[in-house]
Amino acid sequence: MESQPSALRCGIGYDTHRLVAGRKLVLGGVEIPSPRGLLGHSDGDVLSHAIVDALLGAAGLGDMGRFFPDSDPRWKNAESRIFLETIRGLLAERKLEIVNIDSVVVLDEPKLAPYMNQIKESLATSLGIAAEGVNVKAKTSEGTQTDLAVAQAVVLLAQSEPRA
Ligand code: MG
Repeated sequence: MESQPSALRCGIGYDTHRLVAGRKLVLGGVEIPSPRGLLGHSDGDVLSHAIVDALLGAAGLGDMGRFFPDSDPRWKNAESRIFLETIRGLLAERKLEIVNIDSVVVLDEPKLAPYMNQIKESLATSLGIAAEGVNVKAKTSEGTQTDLAVAQAVVLLAQSEPRA
């Protein structure tokens, strides 16, 4: 059998959104009680967006703006779960399976530890994988970025069948 240099594919994603009053705080599809939420054209789910970009990167499909431009009224206040589900379909069409996802959210307040399992479950459900395949780490900025949330993600995909 020929070697398959494309059998495993990694991707990286990054996103940031401003924290403002009067918005919901949604991370990984989970609404988290907070006096401030993330500003954005969609729901501002910085973690889901970083994961979407990492998955698109690993698949060689460009970036989130190509599929879900913020100039498109369809995505106004859209739940980012829809973006994850769309990517899930794109990966399936290409016989690409998610091996694992690792991610970091940088946010000072609120603390995410109580919601971490729920966030992982939510992401895994949207992507159709086991929760064990998703890791989310919470960090603070140590007070250096109190008005921002930042997320980074890396993913590994495996080609389940050789491409034609
Ligand atoms: Mg974003």
